[in-house]
Amino acid sequence: MDVQAVWGAMVRAIRNVGRPGVASTAMAAVDAALWDVKARLLGVPLATLLGAVRDGVDVYGSGGFTSYSIDALQRQLAAWVDAGIPRVKMKVGRDHRGDLARVRAAREAIGDSPELFVDANGGYDRKPALAFARAVEPFGVSWFEEPVSSDDLDGLRLMRDRAPASIEIAAGEYGYDLVYFRRMLEAGAVDVLQADATRCAGITGLLQVGALCDAFEIPLSAHTAPSLHLAPCCALARVRHVEYFHDHARIEQMLFDGAPRPRPDGRLYPDLARPGLGLELRRTDAAKFEVH
Ligand SMILES: [Mg+2]
Repeated sequence: MDVQAVWGAMVRAIRNVGRPGVASTAMAAVDAALWDVKARLLGVPLATLLGAVRDGVDVYGSGGFTSYSIDALQRQLAAWVDAGIPRVKMKVGRDHRGDLARVRAAREAIGDSPELFVDANGGYDRKPALAFARAVEPFGVSWFEEPVSSDDLDGLRLMRDRAPASIEIAAGEYGYDLVYFRRMLEAGAVDVLQADATRCAGITGLLQVGALCDAFEIPLSAHTAPSLHLAPCCALARVRHVEYFHDHARIEQMLFDGAPRPRPDGRLYPDLARPGLGLELRRTDAAKFEVH
């Protein structure tokens, strides 16, 4: 079975529907299922089929929602660090005046060494974003995700050039097709490109983004959905890490046997005893969420 040929046929089939958006997410589901089936038919883990270049992938704990109290924020981030994950991400951008206090509280909770990432989901304009980057530099923030809208490529580039050198600029989670990522990289907009296989038309799409990162010599970080990203991220040379996103990790553990959990070294490893993606849907547990 040539998954990439089927993928190409899907791209042609949705031409008049529009490639970005829901059509690409539907393609992603079919594409992931096809890769899973192919590996199962061959009796190998998907990481092996895709040509693993590493046996596991670093993760970062991701949550820290702006709806959390300071106490809840601190407890969540500290729990990941206690579990051995040396990098964590929190949200900012909803309450500009409160953001600095939340970042300070987060740093207090995790101690000096772990990496601290912030994600504004485009919640700042250019100059406030720049001011915020400078304000959080003393708290050791090393990653500023979507400081401005990810459609503002010039703004991202400004942040990349003018924010403190210790802070990387990241974006790319809304990419549905390869041209989106290429434009972002051509604009010099990011230090690390993000991509999400559930949006960029599946594992096949993610592999293409990986090739683009090779060409531009930019690291790649997978956005959310750790169980889906683990296998392809073992196979892509430029991968920096996978986002261990609180809500997705919780739902994956709830609905799938075999959903990977980070080990005490802060990494996810595919279970090489399980073929394909290594996941089995818990049908009884999933049944109550069935939509008719
Ligand atoms: Mg984000």
